[in-house]
Amino acid sequence: MSKKLKNFINGEWVESKTDKYEDVYNPATKEVLAQVPISTPEDFEDAVQAAQAAQEKWKKVSVAKRARILFKYQNLLEEHKEELAKLITQENGKSVSEALGEVGRGIENVEFAAGAPTLMMGDSLATIATDVEATNYRYPVGVVGGIAPFNFPMMVPCWMFPMAIALGNSFILKPSEKTPILAARLAELLDEAGLPKGVFSIVNGAHDVVNGILDHPTVKAVSFVGSKPVGEYVYKRGSENLKRVQALTGAKNHSTVLADADLDLATKEVISAAFGSAGERCMACAVVTVEDSVADEFIAKLKEASDNIKMGNGLDEGVFLGPVIRDEAKQRTLGYIEKGIEEGATLVRDGRNEQNEDGYFVGPTIFDGVSQDMTIWKDEIFAPVLSVVRVKNLKEAVEFANQSEFANGACLFTTSALSVRYFRENIDAGMLGINLGVPAPMAFFPFSGWKSSFYGTLHANGKDSVDFYTRKKVVTARYPEPDFS
Ligand code: NAD
Repeated sequence: MSKKLKNFINGEWVESKTDKYEDVYNPATKEVLAQVPISTPEDFEDAVQAAQAAQEKWKKVSVAKRARILFKYQNLLEEHKEELAKLITQENGKSVSEALGEVGRGIENVEFAAGAPTLMMGDSLATIATDVEATNYRYPVGVVGGIAPFNFPMMVPCWMFPMAIALGNSFILKPSEKTPILAARLAELLDEAGLPKGVFSIVNGAHDVVNGILDHPTVKAVSFVGSKPVGEYVYKRGSENLKRVQALTGAKNHSTVLADADLDLATKEVISAAFGSAGERCMACAVVTVEDSVADEFIAKLKEASDNIKMGNGLDEGVFLGPVIRDEAKQRTLGYIEKGIEEGATLVRDGRNEQNEDGYFVGPTIFDGVSQDMTIWKDEIFAPVLSVVRVKNLKEAVEFANQSEFANGACLFTTSALSVRYFRENIDAGMLGINLGVPAPMAFFPFSGWKSSFYGTLHANGKDSVDFYTRKKVVTARYPEPDFS
């Protein structure tokens, strides 16, 4: 019997008032792991009430004490690393080694947030006029809502709640209904670390909970990570309701391989970025532009490397490529492969040949001769499908990539410093990689997508997250010099 999941409200596991549940699958086996409640507006209201009451007390707890809870949480997450990774693999499908990487990135955010005493410091100026000084204090914003995608069940929520709570906010998480199991474990460990009841809540579900976060006047800030259409909706509706919103959305990341690059390194990195996590990464390499003179050699290397990829259940030894998340995602991917052929791209490697009916598998797929009028170039496919484009030089590669509506990450493989500088100055993307395939910045830098990959002003992570989860109060004070006569 699979487990009926509960919501975490006011520090207790409570059954949702809904009668609607969805199955949560292991995408590698189609086994039903749990049932997730599609919670009601009443469930959300209970969470908001508890979060607001908790925040009134939490904001007065010293920042050093709050940080100590995060240090303890960090240790607990380290202790449970393997268990957490296994849970991620079961509900998401990525390999255990990738899941362990994800857990590590999540812990890194907790570690960064534990620096809250320093990060939350304001600034001051002793003399802004004669006998007048100014001090800028930071305060939490109040109750914060977080809406997460399925592809990083641990890392993405960790971009949000550790910093939000370290800074004195309370936080309500709506995990993806496709991957809600890991989130429950994150809450249990927070409880074990000593977080007061109500400071962190989970309300499982879909649209109703999202709309609750966007509409409820008590929720002051919203962090969203997910697809572009939903991110746009979240940004517009949340802003209309006068909230702070940061929405990190879709991507179509381009990598460029120049003739002077180390082609073996480029192959290894591009393969890992294109097919790791089954291409279900906002930093996945979706398109590789390669200089004409090395294109045949590079494509042959890509093909050979992808022929050696082991596909299967991410829990099994040596598996690199797991399934996509659901049958719907698999059918969508097969549709894109059909469309690519129909629109005239050359199929270099056909992942359809390796369908494995145990789960929702699609093998590594590579197209050559992709152009900008093709659907496979325009759309975010979010699957193990890589498009190759042959270009004359770096200038043409940059112009090609800059036509995309998305601008999350971009990578360059070269040994030329001049090319690196040209690329950095001219490419439209918020996160760049030089001779590496997945340029996801560490927790202390912002996760800084551009164009349709991000809506808002302050990004997730880094100092941006401190600004996003705090508001400022500037005190200007006159202290006339005492008369000592
Ligand atoms: P999604 O947009 O379908 O879902 C994200 C969240 O929004 C989920 O919690 C879901 O329940 C909710 N949601 C979905 N449809 C909704 C609707 N109509 N109304 C209200 N809420 C809705 O995204 P996903 O499929 O879970 O995740 C994949 C997407 O996330 C990809 O586009 C990927 O690029 C993006 N992503 C972006 C980043 C980034 O940093 N830019 C990071 C990870 C994932």
